[in-house]
Amino acid sequence: MAHISCGLCNLRRNYLAGDLLKLLGNVSIFDVERHMRCTQCGRKDYMTVKFDLPPPGDRVKMKFRRLVEIKMVRKFIWRDD
Ligand SMILES: [Zn+2]
Repeated sequence: MAHISCGLCNLRRNYLAGDLLKLLGNVSIFDVERHMRCTQCGRKDYMTVKFDLPPPGDRVKMKFRRLVEIKMVRKFIWRDD
């Protein structure tokens, strides 16, 4: 399980490690920090990630942000001739 927090706005979120792997692909757990962006302030450089495996009793009390779907956003790039 991954606890991700932003040092700037103190936002904390719990993720399942498996969800992060789906999102980031073949990234080592030491690199996860660099790939996360704070959903509140949008900064990358204040993120810290801690991995652990809490006992099941603690886990039911925690809130997780679960990955529902990965959507690729279509971007239009225009050029005026
Ligand atoms: Zn933040």
